Amino acid sequence: MAKRDYYEVLGVDKGADAQTLKKAYRKLAMKYHPDRNPDDKEAEAKFKEVNEAYEVLSDDTKRSNYDQFGHDGVNGGFGGQGGFGGFSGGAGGFEDIFGDIFGDMFGGGFGGGRPRRRGPERGADIKQTVTITFEEAAFGVKKSIKINRTEECSECHGSGAKDGTSKKTCPTCNGAGEVRTAQRTPFGNIMSTRTCSTCNGEGEVLESPCPKCSGNGKTRKTKTIEVDIPAGIDNDQIIKLSGQGDLGSKGGPRGDLYIIVNVKPHTLFTRDGYDVYFELPITFVQAALGDEIEVPTLDGKVMYNVPAGTQTGTVFRLREKGISKMRGNARGDQYVKVTVEVPKKLNDNQKELLKAFAESCGDEVHEKKKTFGQKIEDFFKGK
Ligand SMILES: [Zn+2]
Ligand SMILES: [Zn+2]
Repeated sequence: MAKRDYYEVLGVDKGADAQTLKKAYRKLAMKYHPDRNPDDKEAEAKFKEVNEAYEVLSDDTKRSNYDQFGHDGVNGGFGGQGGFGGFSGGAGGFEDIFGDIFGDMFGGGFGGGRPRRRGPERGADIKQTVTITFEEAAFGVKKSIKINRTEECSECHGSGAKDGTSKKTCPTCNGAGEVRTAQRTPFGNIMSTRTCSTCNGEGEVLESPCPKCSGNGKTRKTKTIEVDIPAGIDNDQIIKLSGQGDLGSKGGPRGDLYIIVNVKPHTLFTRDGYDVYFELPITFVQAALGDEIEVPTLDGKVMYNVPAGTQTGTVFRLREKGISKMRGNARGDQYVKVTVEVPKKLNDNQKELLKAFAESCGDEVHEKKKTFGQKIEDFFKGK
């Protein structure tokens, strides 16, 4: 496809001055801008063509090359077609510059063109840790939690102005909320507008700032909040309280409050999900004869009948004695693991009694030992 003459593209004379070029370019760029011609391939092509022409003709060196050598002169001059890579996918990286140009031209008619005044902003989120006991986690608890968050300044009621003073027109931007700056771009110097940094685009500044909050309308305060911690919560779980964080700006909503729950370990119980684990030491006599034994649970003591002949490591289950589940009314179970304690210190009398006991038993009462002994014997016989 033959390239059109750049002057023809912009519809100007060969001798056109910079002002005329710019005017022509703006008119055409505005006409073919993708925002105004969505999904129009022809307009898109024209838009690229117009930009390419202006890119060359607005640069004195490139223009002079173009005047002498035509398209070849400029294509070689800035790396051929590749030099316009930025345009190939629409306006590409030049979007910002166009934004400024169009903002300038249409007074904010184009999306993203003109600097916008800062609207309401949401406040920051706050994190706070709360420590609760094992039992509180099991059954739920109401806690008073102290948080440090921003509140409206009590002195100026959020206005930021010292009592009796008001706002005045920003001296930097004279109330416009934006300042114009000349910007060097591939198209030459272009005037662009930026949000005024003195007034943050407000157009007004405080005559005299509130001494309590230094003019920002907010102060940090410690506040106590009541939090319902649900039954069944576990260590490191987080409760989100929407709208309890820092104050927003200009009527924006508060941020959120995140309560991180830290559950203290229990001296007797450990936990896995909603189940509670407990280790119960019993004597070897209790294990052999069986006994009714007191077992602690989250609901208090219960009596449990350990049957005669209970082995060490036996686990029994107490149904519904565990942690309340987060959803529904059900509860986990408590698992009780039995450990048989062998006495370490025996007096002579006790030793005699045990020897007598052993003699009276023979091997008959120890089934496991008997079969195990047989296995060892068989093992050595086999060698
Ligand atoms: Zn104040
Ligand atoms: Zn200003």
